[in-house]
Order: sequence, then C-alpha cells, then structure tokens
Amino acid sequence: MSGHTALVDAHVHLFPPAQADARAQIAERDGTFAEMYATPAAKMAGVDALTAAMDEAGIESAVAAGFAFRTESDIEAQNAYLSVCAAASRGRIWPLATTNLALPGWRRALEAALAAGACGVGELRPHNQGWDPLGPESHVLCELAGAAGLPLLWHVSEPIGHAYPGKAGGISPVELYRLAAAHPGVRMVAAHLGGGLSFYLDMPEVRKAIDSVYFDTAAVSLLYHIESVTRLVALAGADHVIFGSDFPMLPPARQLKRLQALLDDDVAAAVCGGNAGILYGNRRAR
Ligand SMILES: [Zn+2]
Repeated sequence: MSGHTALVDAHVHLFPPAQADARAQIAERDGTFAEMYATPAAKMAGVDALTAAMDEAGIESAVAAGFAFRTESDIEAQNAYLSVCAAASRGRIWPLATTNLALPGWRRALEAALAAGACGVGELRPHNQGWDPLGPESHVLCELAGAAGLPLLWHVSEPIGHAYPGKAGGISPVELYRLAAAHPGVRMVAAHLGGGLSFYLDMPEVRKAIDSVYFDTAAVSLLYHIESVTRLVALAGADHVIFGSDFPMLPPARQLKRLQALLDDDVAAAVCGGNAGILYGNRRAR
C-alpha cells in the first residue's frame, strides 16, 4: 500500500428532491417504497446532504444507488438525477443505474443509464420488483454486466434474524451463490455482509465458484456486532470486503471510524477505499 488511499463509501442512496417531496404519492403506487419510505422518519437524501456527510467523514467518493422502484417513470427520474449529480460532482459521485427486470423495456432503459455514465447496477431487489434472480432476464443482466465490466450490487436478504423495513425482497444468499457461480468473472457486490453467504467461503469449491463476489458492510451496526467485519475479512479476504454506510439511514463518519479502529491499517485502506476504486475504477476512467 503506497501513500494515501482515498476513502470511498461504496453504498449510499440518493433521491431527487421531487421524489422526496412526492413520497406519499409514490408510496401509493409502489409497495416496497411504501414499506421503507412512507414514514417521513425514513430519511431521503439529496446530493447536498450526501456531500456534507462525505466531507464530515473525509470521504473522497461515494457509490450512489437510487431505489429499486417498480415503475419505469420513477426509475427514469431516479437515473436522470444520479447522472446529473455525478456529472456535477467532479468524480465524487459514482452512480449506479436502477433497473426493474419485470418491465418489458428494462434493457433499453438500463442501456440509456449506462450510456449516461452509470458505473454499475443496483441496489437490486428482484423479489420486491417481481422478477426471478435465477430467471432468464437475470441471466441477460449478468451477461450484459460481464460484457461491460459493470459490478452488480444486490440487496441480500438475511434468511433469519429480526425484521426491518426492506429486509425481505432482495436476493437470498443461496440464489446469489447460484447466480454468481453461473457467471464466473461477473463482479457482484453482496450488500449487508452477504446475508451469511461468506461463511461458506471456507468450502474450497464455494470460494472458487464465487471469487467474483464482494461483500459490503452497509448497515452492519444495525444487523451484527461490529467485529463481524473482522470475521468477514478473515473469511473473504481483505480484497473482497468493501465499506458502505447505507447513508442516509446511517451517517458514514462514525462507521468509518469504527472500522478504521477495528482493522489493521493496510486492511482498512483496502476495505475503506482501495477495493471500491479497483471495482468501479475501469468505468470511471472512460
Ligand atoms: Zn440493502
């Protein structure tokens, strides 16, 4: 590790102000959105709040996802906002494209978002949107992502444990394993420590099959003991673990400090920035 590695928060969420203003109306047409955001207590942040949180934490760049909306118009508004924010950010915002594979036009809409600068796809919530993560459309997505070198960020649903809004409806650890094993080399990020999938990396054939799966730490302090990140690093390797805060649900500054205190310096440099730079770097350099 030479010199200073820029800090990256690899899992944040952004909403255009118009969608924050319209949360009640959107909640009427989108059940998952209603589950997570109908209450005004659930924060919906725009780019100014994100930038302020990044500055407070000393974070150079953030990988920004929208929300896995149901309708094409909500998705397009989301993708357009992230694209504009990224273009104005001088490299600080790395946008992910939102998509819904249950919509017949998903591929065209996704390709438009990628052409506008998206550097990955997510946060994917297949069961919330009503598509099968092991179905034919999902395999098309993986092939597209592989050809373009785009990481796929998945909301992984823990099969057990306490309930919270938005817990269910992502991809299960077993589904993610099967999908990743069917698409070797396609880089996938398993959010929220991967819902337990990392445990099985101690099986040699599992490690080999899903070497392109990375694990992020989004919302770790709400789900697990913070030291589970140390255990994740031991299982997956320092090069496969990525810091993400899940901002604005949690502010990044405190989590970053806790991880930096927990991990050896070279591991912290990789987890808190180096790995995200490698994962998303190719697309950003275009
Ligand atoms: Zn998530």
